[in-house]
Amino acid sequence: MYYRQLGKTDLNVSIIGFGAGPLGNAYGEISDDTGKQAVHAAIDHGINFFDTSPYYGLTLSETRLGHALKGYRQKVLIATKGGRYGIDVFDFSATRLIRSVEESLQRLQTDVIDLYQLHDVEFVSKQQIIEEALPCLERLRKQGKIRYIGITGYPLHLLRDVAMTFPVDSILSYCHYNLLNTTLQDVLVPLATKDGIGLINASSLHMGVLTEQGAPPWHPGPEPVHEAARQAATIAREYDTDITTIALQFALQNKDVNTTLVGMRTEAEVHQNLALIGTAPDQELLARIQEIMAPVKDINWESGLPENYEPDAQSQREKDSEG
Ligand code: NAD
Repeated sequence: MYYRQLGKTDLNVSIIGFGAGPLGNAYGEISDDTGKQAVHAAIDHGINFFDTSPYYGLTLSETRLGHALKGYRQKVLIATKGGRYGIDVFDFSATRLIRSVEESLQRLQTDVIDLYQLHDVEFVSKQQIIEEALPCLERLRKQGKIRYIGITGYPLHLLRDVAMTFPVDSILSYCHYNLLNTTLQDVLVPLATKDGIGLINASSLHMGVLTEQGAPPWHPGPEPVHEAARQAATIAREYDTDITTIALQFALQNKDVNTTLVGMRTEAEVHQNLALIGTAPDQELLARIQEIMAPVKDINWESGLPENYEPDAQSQREKDSEG
């Protein structure tokens, strides 16, 4: 395993992080034991960075992670979040965040959270994030409940604007650096590099699109994106490999991000993904896949309040007419 410093923090994170969305059954139901075995396999092979949220499985992910990490706390760094508590449930008020941190500490069975992030900041006004939520996290940091502060979300421009206005330790962006979309590189990397902000690349499999099984039904991406991924998966098989392998090899080549979070459901997925560290994608296959994906590359969808949408975001109506 290789490790990189997360921005200017003293968190030395593994270049593959464990995305604990699947521990909340976001990608199909798994048993407590399956999840625990995946976590333990990850730790055994050097993964030290775990990302969860009370939103994942409506607290199930945090609870399972807390159980699985019993006895391992000193070996790992825990990132969790607050502000989002359901598909349409958001509360970034200081009162709720203070309570949320206490609840997460209990579920995670720890007395400090290494990285506490505001979850999906595009769903409330930028003003509330900057004037209420982030200052509240600063106070919680001073009290020793959390060590570092981050923001997460989908619209890159909003993440950049918030980080330019209020100093944060890290930004977690998802579905914006992988085979289907690389816009993180232009929008966030220059700022992160200049200001020493930690950069976390999540959903390098585009939330399941870049897998043999395909994305779950709740996926917000338009149908042509799924179709391009299916075609790419067929070609990958012709090269005796699979779409997940080349997708992860591609994402892991980016040294401008400090860690790439991958949602892993099973011990087998952990082993498969860790075996890819230090391997390069087959260049001929990569070129063929990139050709297929060119017409759907860098598509953004709407997320959050309209005022926070990416400027080029596709509306739900456009998505339906294409599907
Ligand atoms: P992902 O792109 O990592 O895809 C996860 C899917 O890929 C799951 O179905 C998993 O079973 C499958 N998979 C993983 N390895 C595989 C393999 N070797 N073979 C076949 N299938 C494989 O999506 P994600 O889990 O949503 O993103 C990663 C993590 O990033 C999340 O778990 C979460 O921690 C974080 N995240 C945060 C936010 C946010 O804060 N707003 C948003 C998205 C993701």
